[in-house]
Amino acid sequence: MNSIAATYSQLIKSKAKKFGFQDCGISKADFLEEDAQHLESWLKNNFHGEMKYMENYFDKRLDPRLLVEGSQSVISLSYNYFPKEKISTLENYKISKYAYAEDYHEVIKEILCEMVAELQEEIGDFGFRVFVDSAPVLERSWARKSGIGWVGKNANLITKQSGSFYFLAEIICDLELIPDHETTDHCGTCRKCIEACPTDAIVSDKIIDGSKCISYATIELKNEIPEHFKNKMEDWMFGCDICQDVCPWNRFSSPNLQSRFTPNAFLKNFKKGEWKELTQELFSEIFKKSPVKRTKFAGLKRNIEFLEQSSGQ
Ligand code: SF4
Ligand code: SF4
Repeated sequence: MNSIAATYSQLIKSKAKKFGFQDCGISKADFLEEDAQHLESWLKNNFHGEMKYMENYFDKRLDPRLLVEGSQSVISLSYNYFPKEKISTLENYKISKYAYAEDYHEVIKEILCEMVAELQEEIGDFGFRVFVDSAPVLERSWARKSGIGWVGKNANLITKQSGSFYFLAEIICDLELIPDHETTDHCGTCRKCIEACPTDAIVSDKIIDGSKCISYATIELKNEIPEHFKNKMEDWMFGCDICQDVCPWNRFSSPNLQSRFTPNAFLKNFKKGEWKELTQELFSEIFKKSPVKRTKFAGLKRNIEFLEQSSGQ
């Protein structure tokens, strides 16, 4: 075993812990052969709906060496976002837990950059790029390969210790490191997520028809929400957590310790009545730093109106 690679790998994992990451695993930067076939057939089936950007950078998505010149390793990291407080769903519309607080892209990217700066102080300069759901990186595939968890039937990455409510991030770098091994799949005969999905979007084991998914309809879709979602949205106005909430592994979720992930006060106090009165001005104030800004005011308004019409209110 290369002793420098082993020392660096160990150092990176202890830094990841210090910076609040729950798990850290390493893979060799290589072509993702198995995933190439899955991605191709997912796109062929048009399961990406209007997410046309998924068709771009096909080769780069599958080979990090095309994305970061000279890269040798992919470091996968997970960061818990399970909220400290639940937002009441009584007389309220629902929002995915990951969007309760500040935008994770910014929070985690900052943490990653600080972590890399500390690493460079200790081991010297190295080439790298950090990614948080922001570039063509197949995050779940790398996290699975690095042994952080397995991909569940709901297509989320799941760990035995803490379920699936965490963000994934990567450092792709030119350091030679010691790769970890994949873990085993622990879904077994469970089908809870498939049975609970109100739109039948989980078409088979690990395959989501994005165009049927509430998350897609409320966030990614730019046009009108199709009629087939009527009466099936279960009051979700941004995202959907159903297939994660029912997953038995999420009974091990514990609240995150990140102060910037404290739920937005507006979200805690608003009820359906307030959401219906939402204005552009208020939207900008509430969601200034939130991932909800992705759907823009018009998108959130459309979602709320669709929910109102569906329930005949
Ligand atoms: S996020 Fe919701 S709609 Fe999408 S697959 Fe999961 S349960 Fe179904
Ligand atoms: S609900 Fe069951 S089948 Fe679905 S991801 Fe969780 S363990 Fe796997």
